[in-house]
Amino acid sequence: MTAQGSASVFAAPKRPLAIQRFPLPEKIEDEAALLRVTAAGVCGTDVHLWHGRLKIPVPVILGHETVGEVATLGSRLNRDLLGNPLAVGDRVVFASGVSCGRCYYCAIAQEPTRCLRRKVYGINLTCSQPPHFFGGQAEYVYLIPGVCIFKLPDGLPTDAIVAVGCAAPTTVHAFENAGGMHHGENVVIQGAGPVGLFSLVLALEGGASKVIVLDQVQSRLEAAKKMGADHVLNISDFENSEQRVAKVHELTNGIGADMVVECSGNPKAVQEGWLMCRDSGRYLEVGHYTDRGEAPLNPHIITRKQLKITGSWGMAPRHYLHALRVIEKVWSKYGLNQLVGRKFPLEDSTQALEAVEKGEVVKAVITP
Ligand SMILES: [Zn+2]
Ligand SMILES: [Zn+2]
Repeated sequence: MTAQGSASVFAAPKRPLAIQRFPLPEKIEDEAALLRVTAAGVCGTDVHLWHGRLKIPVPVILGHETVGEVATLGSRLNRDLLGNPLAVGDRVVFASGVSCGRCYYCAIAQEPTRCLRRKVYGINLTCSQPPHFFGGQAEYVYLIPGVCIFKLPDGLPTDAIVAVGCAAPTTVHAFENAGGMHHGENVVIQGAGPVGLFSLVLALEGGASKVIVLDQVQSRLEAAKKMGADHVLNISDFENSEQRVAKVHELTNGIGADMVVECSGNPKAVQEGWLMCRDSGRYLEVGHYTDRGEAPLNPHIITRKQLKITGSWGMAPRHYLHALRVIEKVWSKYGLNQLVGRKFPLEDSTQALEAVEKGEVVKAVITP
Protein backbone atom coordinates (compact mmCIF):
# COMPACT_ATOMS: atom_id res chain seq x y z
CA MET A 1 0.00 0.00 0.00
CA THR A 2 1.19 3.53 -0.76
CA ALA A 3 2.21 5.62 2.21
CA GLN A 4 -0.17 8.40 3.12
CA GLY A 5 -0.11 11.70 4.96
CA SER A 6 -2.79 13.79 6.63
CA ALA A 7 -3.73 17.31 5.69
CA SER A 8 -6.23 19.84 6.92
CA VAL A 9 -8.36 20.82 3.94
CA PHE A 10 -10.28 24.01 3.28
CA ALA A 11 -13.13 23.22 0.90
CA ALA A 12 -15.68 26.01 1.30
CA PRO A 13 -15.86 29.37 3.12
CA LYS A 14 -16.74 29.33 6.81
CA ARG A 15 -16.99 25.52 6.98
CA PRO A 16 -14.70 23.76 9.47
CA LEU A 17 -11.50 22.45 7.92
CA ALA A 18 -11.49 18.68 7.44
CA ILE A 19 -8.68 16.17 7.84
CA GLN A 20 -8.03 14.24 4.66
CA ARG A 21 -5.47 11.56 3.87
CA PHE A 22 -3.55 11.77 0.61
CA PRO A 23 -1.04 9.33 -0.88
CA LEU A 24 2.57 10.47 -0.68
CA PRO A 25 4.17 10.85 -4.12
CA GLU A 26 5.81 7.61 -5.21
CA LYS A 27 8.38 9.44 -7.24
CA ILE A 28 9.92 12.85 -6.56
CA GLU A 29 10.77 15.02 -9.57
CA ASP A 30 14.52 15.59 -10.09
CA GLU A 31 14.51 19.13 -8.67
CA ALA A 32 11.65 18.74 -6.20
CA ALA A 33 11.59 17.87 -2.51
CA LEU A 34 9.24 16.41 0.04
CA LEU A 35 9.32 17.97 3.51
CA ARG A 36 7.94 16.66 6.77
CA VAL A 37 6.21 19.70 8.27
CA THR A 38 7.51 20.74 11.68
CA ALA A 39 5.46 23.91 12.13
CA ALA A 40 2.92 25.80 10.06
CA GLY A 41 2.11 29.34 11.07
CA VAL A 42 -1.51 30.47 10.96
CA CYS A 43 -1.66 33.86 9.30
CA GLY A 44 -4.41 36.48 9.45
CA THR A 45 -4.71 35.86 5.71
CA ASP A 46 -5.73 32.26 6.43
CA VAL A 47 -8.65 33.60 8.45
CA HIS A 48 -9.65 35.88 5.57
CA LEU A 49 -9.34 33.04 3.05
CA TRP A 50 -11.47 30.89 5.31
CA HIS A 51 -14.14 33.61 5.17
CA GLY A 52 -13.92 33.69 1.37
CA ARG A 53 -12.37 37.19 1.12
CA LEU A 54 -10.08 36.24 -1.75
CA LYS A 55 -11.04 34.15 -4.74
CA ILE A 56 -8.93 30.99 -4.66
CA PRO A 57 -9.34 27.53 -6.17
CA VAL A 58 -10.60 24.95 -3.67
CA PRO A 59 -10.03 22.51 -2.10
CA VAL A 60 -6.79 23.85 -0.72
CA ILE A 61 -4.49 22.99 2.17
CA LEU A 62 -3.95 26.30 3.97
CA GLY A 63 -0.56 27.31 5.35
CA HIS A 64 2.00 29.51 3.61
CA GLU A 65 4.50 29.86 6.47
CA THR A 66 6.09 26.50 6.89
CA VAL A 67 9.16 25.08 8.55
CA GLY A 68 9.92 21.49 7.66
CA GLU A 69 12.54 18.78 7.58
CA VAL A 70 13.71 17.34 4.30
CA ALA A 71 12.15 13.87 3.93
CA THR A 72 13.10 13.18 0.31
CA LEU A 73 15.19 15.08 -2.20
CA GLY A 74 14.95 14.90 -5.98
CA SER A 75 18.03 13.44 -7.67
CA ARG A 76 19.22 16.85 -8.87
CA LEU A 77 18.44 18.91 -5.79
CA ASN A 78 21.38 18.93 -3.43
CA ARG A 79 21.84 22.60 -2.48
CA ASP A 80 19.66 25.39 -1.13
CA LEU A 81 19.32 28.78 -2.81
CA LEU A 82 22.57 30.05 -1.26
CA GLY A 83 24.52 26.95 -2.26
CA ASN A 84 24.50 25.28 1.16
CA PRO A 85 24.48 21.48 0.83
CA LEU A 86 21.03 19.98 1.43
CA ALA A 87 20.43 16.54 2.90
CA VAL A 88 17.59 14.48 4.28
CA GLY A 89 16.80 15.67 7.83
CA ASP A 90 17.85 19.30 7.24
CA ARG A 91 15.53 21.95 8.65
CA VAL A 92 14.42 24.37 5.93
CA VAL A 93 11.99 27.11 4.97
CA PHE A 94 10.91 28.02 1.48
CA ALA A 95 9.49 30.99 -0.39
CA SER A 96 5.78 30.23 -0.63
CA GLY A 97 5.41 32.04 -3.96
CA VAL A 98 6.75 30.55 -7.18
CA SER A 99 6.96 32.89 -10.15
CA CYS A 100 7.27 31.76 -13.76
CA GLY A 101 10.24 33.94 -14.74
CA ARG A 102 8.90 34.44 -18.26
CA CYS A 103 5.80 36.64 -18.08
CA TYR A 104 5.76 40.44 -18.48
CA TYR A 105 5.98 41.05 -14.74
CA CYS A 106 8.75 38.53 -14.15
CA ALA A 107 10.92 39.26 -17.16
CA ILE A 108 10.28 42.91 -17.98
CA ALA A 109 8.79 44.75 -15.02
CA GLN A 110 10.84 42.61 -12.58
CA GLU A 111 8.00 42.40 -10.12
CA PRO A 112 7.82 38.63 -9.48
CA THR A 113 5.12 39.07 -6.84
CA ARG A 114 2.79 40.17 -9.66
CA CYS A 115 3.73 37.21 -11.92
CA LEU A 116 0.81 36.36 -14.16
CA ARG A 117 1.28 32.63 -13.46
CA ARG A 118 2.29 32.88 -9.81
CA LYS A 119 1.74 29.83 -7.68
CA VAL A 120 1.46 30.30 -3.93
CA TYR A 121 1.57 27.47 -1.41
CA GLY A 122 -1.41 27.38 0.90
CA ILE A 123 -3.31 29.87 -1.27
CA ASN A 124 -3.82 29.17 -4.96
CA LEU A 125 -2.52 25.62 -5.43
CA THR A 126 -5.39 23.21 -5.06
CA CYS A 127 -4.82 19.86 -3.37
CA SER A 128 -7.27 18.05 -5.64
CA GLN A 129 -4.51 16.71 -7.92
CA PRO A 130 -1.36 14.73 -7.03
CA PRO A 131 1.01 15.36 -5.38
CA HIS A 132 -1.69 17.08 -3.26
CA PHE A 133 0.61 18.47 -0.55
CA PHE A 134 0.63 22.16 -1.46
CA GLY A 135 0.06 23.80 1.91
CA GLY A 136 1.67 23.85 5.33
CA GLN A 137 -1.23 22.51 7.39
CA ALA A 138 -0.33 18.92 6.63
CA GLU A 139 2.15 16.26 7.64
CA TYR A 140 4.06 16.81 4.41
CA VAL A 141 4.58 19.50 1.83
CA TYR A 142 5.79 18.87 -1.71
CA LEU A 143 8.16 21.49 -3.10
CA ILE A 144 7.86 21.63 -6.88
CA PRO A 145 10.93 22.39 -9.00
CA GLY A 146 11.71 26.11 -8.82
CA VAL A 147 10.75 26.64 -5.18
CA CYS A 148 13.43 28.69 -3.39
CA ILE A 149 14.61 26.72 -0.36
CA PHE A 150 16.66 28.11 2.52
CA LYS A 151 18.44 25.82 4.94
CA LEU A 152 18.06 27.14 8.48
CA PRO A 153 21.08 27.83 10.65
CA ASP A 154 21.39 25.81 13.87
CA GLY A 155 20.44 27.82 16.91
CA LEU A 156 17.67 29.75 15.17
CA PRO A 157 14.47 28.51 16.85
CA THR A 158 11.64 27.32 14.63
CA ASP A 159 9.24 29.39 16.76
CA ALA A 160 11.16 32.59 15.98
CA ILE A 161 10.64 31.95 12.27
CA VAL A 162 6.98 30.93 12.28
CA ALA A 163 6.12 33.74 14.73
CA VAL A 164 6.76 36.24 11.96
CA GLY A 165 6.13 33.72 9.14
CA CYS A 166 5.00 35.59 6.07
CA ALA A 167 4.85 38.85 8.02
CA ALA A 168 8.62 39.29 8.02
CA PRO A 169 9.24 39.04 4.26
CA THR A 170 6.01 40.96 3.55
CA THR A 171 7.24 43.80 5.71
CA VAL A 172 10.73 43.75 4.21
CA HIS A 173 9.04 44.05 0.79
CA ALA A 174 6.82 46.93 1.94
CA PHE A 175 9.74 48.90 3.41
CA GLU A 176 11.86 48.25 0.32
CA ASN A 177 9.03 49.38 -1.94
CA ALA A 178 8.65 52.62 -0.02
CA GLY A 179 12.35 53.44 -0.32
CA GLY A 180 13.34 52.14 3.11
CA MET A 181 13.79 53.96 6.40
CA HIS A 182 15.82 57.03 7.23
CA HIS A 183 17.52 57.43 10.59
CA GLY A 184 15.73 59.61 13.08
CA GLU A 185 12.30 59.30 11.50
CA ASN A 186 9.07 58.96 13.43
CA VAL A 187 6.99 55.95 12.48
CA VAL A 188 3.36 55.05 13.15
CA ILE A 189 2.26 51.43 12.86
CA GLN A 190 -1.47 50.73 12.55
CA GLY A 191 -2.08 47.20 13.85
CA ALA A 192 0.12 45.05 16.11
CA GLY A 193 -0.33 41.62 14.60
CA PRO A 194 2.75 39.87 13.20
CA VAL A 195 3.08 42.34 10.28
CA GLY A 196 2.82 45.30 12.64
CA LEU A 197 5.27 43.81 15.11
CA PHE A 198 7.81 43.02 12.42
CA SER A 199 7.36 46.57 11.07
CA LEU A 200 8.26 47.67 14.58
CA VAL A 201 11.45 45.58 14.42
CA LEU A 202 12.40 47.02 11.02
CA ALA A 203 11.63 50.57 12.17
CA LEU A 204 13.73 50.20 15.33
CA GLU A 205 16.56 48.48 13.47
CA GLY A 206 16.32 51.14 10.76
CA GLY A 207 17.05 53.90 13.23
CA ALA A 208 13.58 55.25 13.97
CA SER A 209 13.44 58.01 16.54
CA LYS A 210 9.95 57.32 17.82
CA VAL A 211 7.66 54.41 17.00
CA ILE A 212 3.96 54.66 17.83
CA VAL A 213 1.86 51.48 17.59
CA LEU A 214 -1.95 51.38 17.51
CA ASP A 215 -4.23 48.38 17.98
CA GLN A 216 -7.34 47.48 19.91
CA VAL A 217 -6.05 44.24 21.42
CA GLN A 218 -4.24 45.07 24.65
CA SER A 219 -2.05 41.94 24.66
CA ARG A 220 -0.70 42.84 21.23
CA LEU A 221 0.05 46.37 22.39
CA GLU A 222 1.86 44.95 25.41
CA ALA A 223 3.96 42.80 23.08
CA ALA A 224 4.78 45.93 21.05
CA LYS A 225 5.72 47.85 24.18
CA LYS A 226 7.95 45.01 25.38
CA MET A 227 9.67 44.93 22.01
CA GLY A 228 10.54 48.60 22.22
CA ALA A 229 7.65 50.70 20.88
CA ASP A 230 7.91 54.21 22.34
CA HIS A 231 4.15 54.66 22.55
CA VAL A 232 1.30 52.19 22.27
CA LEU A 233 -2.22 53.51 21.78
CA ASN A 234 -5.33 51.42 22.24
CA ILE A 235 -7.73 52.77 19.63
CA SER A 236 -10.69 52.01 21.93
CA ASP A 237 -9.35 54.53 24.44
CA PHE A 238 -10.24 57.33 22.03
CA GLU A 239 -13.69 58.63 21.27
CA ASN A 240 -13.04 59.07 17.59
CA SER A 241 -10.56 59.08 14.77
CA GLU A 242 -9.83 62.83 15.11
CA GLN A 243 -8.61 62.26 18.66
CA ARG A 244 -6.25 59.51 17.57
CA VAL A 245 -4.86 61.67 14.78
CA ALA A 246 -4.46 64.55 17.26
CA LYS A 247 -2.59 62.25 19.67
CA VAL A 248 -0.12 61.21 16.98
CA HIS A 249 0.47 64.85 16.07
CA GLU A 250 0.96 65.68 19.74
CA LEU A 251 3.60 62.93 20.00
CA THR A 252 5.40 64.15 16.87
CA ASN A 253 5.79 67.86 17.63
CA GLY A 254 2.59 68.72 15.82
CA ILE A 255 4.03 67.53 12.52
CA GLY A 256 2.84 63.94 12.04
CA ALA A 257 4.79 60.78 11.29
CA ASP A 258 7.37 60.56 8.53
CA MET A 259 6.10 57.10 7.75
CA VAL A 260 2.85 55.31 8.56
CA VAL A 261 2.55 51.56 8.03
CA GLU A 262 -0.95 50.14 7.67
CA CYS A 263 -0.93 46.59 9.10
CA SER A 264 -4.45 46.42 10.48
CA GLY A 265 -6.35 45.22 7.43
CA ASN A 266 -9.15 47.57 8.40
CA PRO A 267 -10.34 49.80 5.52
CA LYS A 268 -11.36 52.49 8.02
CA ALA A 269 -7.76 52.79 9.22
CA VAL A 270 -6.54 54.07 5.86
CA GLN A 271 -7.71 57.67 5.79
CA GLU A 272 -6.93 57.98 9.48
CA GLY A 273 -3.38 56.85 8.68
CA TRP A 274 -3.06 59.41 5.89
CA LEU A 275 -3.95 62.11 8.39
CA MET A 276 -1.34 60.77 10.82
CA CYS A 277 1.37 61.28 8.16
CA ARG A 278 3.30 64.49 8.04
CA ASP A 279 3.01 66.45 4.81
CA SER A 280 4.99 64.69 2.08
CA GLY A 281 5.20 61.61 4.34
CA ARG A 282 5.01 57.99 3.23
CA TYR A 283 2.04 55.70 3.69
CA LEU A 284 2.74 51.98 3.32
CA GLU A 285 -0.37 49.98 2.52
CA VAL A 286 0.44 46.42 3.60
CA GLY A 287 -2.58 45.17 5.50
CA HIS A 288 -5.05 44.48 2.71
CA TYR A 289 -3.86 41.27 1.08
CA THR A 290 -7.47 40.16 1.04
CA ASP A 291 -10.46 42.25 0.04
CA ARG A 292 -11.94 43.78 3.19
CA GLY A 293 -14.34 46.06 1.37
CA GLU A 294 -14.44 49.80 0.87
CA ALA A 295 -14.16 52.88 3.04
CA PRO A 296 -14.78 56.52 2.13
CA LEU A 297 -11.47 58.19 1.26
CA ASN A 298 -10.94 61.84 0.48
CA PRO A 299 -8.30 62.18 -2.28
CA HIS A 300 -7.88 65.84 -1.40
CA ILE A 301 -5.80 64.65 1.56
CA ILE A 302 -3.30 62.97 -0.77
CA THR A 303 -2.90 66.09 -2.90
CA ARG A 304 -2.85 68.58 -0.08
CA LYS A 305 -0.41 66.58 2.02
CA GLN A 306 1.65 65.44 -0.97
CA LEU A 307 1.49 61.88 0.34
CA LYS A 308 3.53 59.09 -1.14
CA ILE A 309 1.40 55.96 -0.95
CA THR A 310 2.83 52.56 -1.86
CA GLY A 311 1.22 49.16 -1.99
CA SER A 312 3.06 45.85 -1.92
CA TRP A 313 1.74 42.38 -2.47
CA GLY A 314 3.27 39.30 -0.86
CA MET A 315 6.99 38.76 -1.19
CA ALA A 316 9.69 37.59 -3.56
CA PRO A 317 12.53 35.21 -2.61
CA ARG A 318 14.91 38.11 -1.88
CA HIS A 319 12.50 39.37 0.77
CA TYR A 320 12.56 35.92 2.39
CA LEU A 321 16.31 35.88 2.47
CA HIS A 322 16.60 39.39 3.87
CA ALA A 323 13.88 38.71 6.44
CA LEU A 324 15.61 35.50 7.52
CA ARG A 325 18.87 37.38 7.99
CA VAL A 326 17.14 39.99 10.14
CA ILE A 327 15.39 37.29 12.19
CA GLU A 328 18.63 35.40 12.72
CA LYS A 329 20.29 38.55 14.01
CA VAL A 330 17.58 39.97 16.27
CA TRP A 331 15.17 37.19 17.27
CA SER A 332 16.58 36.97 20.77
CA LYS A 333 16.72 40.77 21.30
CA TYR A 334 13.00 41.10 20.50
CA GLY A 335 11.92 37.70 21.86
CA LEU A 336 10.33 36.83 18.52
CA ASN A 337 9.93 33.16 19.52
CA GLN A 338 7.73 34.27 22.43
CA LEU A 339 5.14 35.68 20.03
CA VAL A 340 3.94 32.14 19.38
CA GLY A 341 0.94 32.06 21.67
CA ARG A 342 -0.46 28.63 21.16
CA LYS A 343 0.28 25.42 19.29
CA PHE A 344 -2.45 23.26 17.81
CA PRO A 345 -2.42 19.73 16.44
CA LEU A 346 -3.48 19.36 12.81
CA GLU A 347 -6.96 18.20 13.84
CA ASP A 348 -7.56 21.54 15.57
CA SER A 349 -6.79 23.75 12.56
CA THR A 350 -10.23 25.33 12.72
CA GLN A 351 -9.76 26.28 16.37
CA ALA A 352 -6.40 27.80 15.42
CA LEU A 353 -8.14 29.99 12.84
CA GLU A 354 -10.69 31.03 15.43
CA ALA A 355 -7.99 31.90 17.96
CA VAL A 356 -6.28 34.16 15.42
CA GLU A 357 -9.56 35.73 14.40
CA LYS A 358 -10.49 36.57 17.97
CA GLY A 359 -7.06 38.04 18.61
CA GLU A 360 -6.53 35.55 21.45
CA VAL A 361 -2.94 35.01 20.33
CA VAL A 362 -0.42 37.06 18.40
CA LYS A 363 0.52 33.89 16.57
CA ALA A 364 -0.98 30.42 16.39
CA VAL A 365 1.03 27.53 15.03
CA ILE A 366 0.00 24.10 13.76
CA THR A 367 2.38 21.31 14.67
CA PRO A 368 1.40 18.31 12.57
ZN1 LIG B 1 0.41 35.29 5.52
ZN1 LIG C 1 5.78 35.34 -14.23
